[in-house]
Amino acid sequence: MKPLLLPLLLLSLQTDKTVYICDSGKAPKYHYDAKCRGLSNCNYKTVKTTLTKAKKEGKTLCKWED
Ligand SMILES: [Zn+2]
Repeated sequence: MKPLLLPLLLLSLQTDKTVYICDSGKAPKYHYDAKCRGLSNCNYKTVKTTLTKAKKEGKTLCKWED
């Protein structure tokens, strides 16, 4: 294995972090914390997704987290 491959692998794992979104169908934010105060306003189900997917759907990080 070339020494360059390991850092690249770690980087790709890092970007595919698990995030949480409110399943209302139009929630514009994603959350790192399932118990975030931004999510406590959600009257729908909280669903787990990945950071990559959430960003692809145009979601941005919740204002309570950065
Ligand atoms: Zn949040």
